[in-house]
Amino acid sequence: MDRAVIEKCRADLQHQLDELMAGAERTVVDMTHVEENFPDPTDRASLESNRNFTLRLRDRDRKLVAKIKEAIKRIEAGTFGICQGCGGEIEEKRLIARPVTSLCIDCKTVAEEEEVK
Ligand SMILES: [Zn+2]
Repeated sequence: MDRAVIEKCRADLQHQLDELMAGAERTVVDMTHVEENFPDPTDRASLESNRNFTLRLRDRDRKLVAKIKEAIKRIEAGTFGICQGCGGEIEEKRLIARPVTSLCIDCKTVAEEEEVK
């Protein structure tokens, strides 16, 4: 694996992580802010659905944050770019497009087919 590719992936991952963390902070601020300003029951209802949406989003973000952290750990451990399915090398193109990936395209395809079944 090309060192430059790994460094690029590490920078992308770190950037993505920073953005997610900043987003999570904003969400918390928004939620406290909105609550104070909508005493009306109708607005409350829309606030509730908004909040559910926000929480779902944050749940998805939390999963992504975990994936990013794992990928950074793999870089530090020197196992980045190695497929966790078959132990082969993951294509550089694939890593650059999606640095959080831990499976090569073949294993990913198999995993997706299993999910569908
Ligand atoms: Zn594989």
